Amino acid sequence: MGKGRGRRRGTSKWQQEHRPLSTGFLAPGGLSAGRVQRRDGEYHVRHISGAAAAKDYSCPGCGLTIGAGTDHVVAWRADSILGDEYAASERRHWHTHCWRIG
Ligand SMILES: [Zn+2]
Repeated sequence: MGKGRGRRRGTSKWQQEHRPLSTGFLAPGGLSAGRVQRRDGEYHVRHISGAAAAKDYSCPGCGLTIGAGTDHVVAWRADSILGDEYAASERRHWHTHCWRIG
């Protein structure tokens, strides 16, 4: 029985951040940011450096894992009717290649 264990963890850092995405969403690691138009709408896109990729993600383009430490892209809808913050909470991580060809 260690001390300090068993605390409820339920608040993610995304839920805690309510700053406007346009100014407050940049993660560390020298990311470039932008909005792109895709066939199904407009997206916010961030490039995640390998150093900033701390965990594995599942790529919706190819269905394979994006391993921790891999440069990749994170994208979410810029035109969500539910708002930018909701869209950001639903953001998806893509292989850079899969995002480009998607
Ligand atoms: Zn992929």
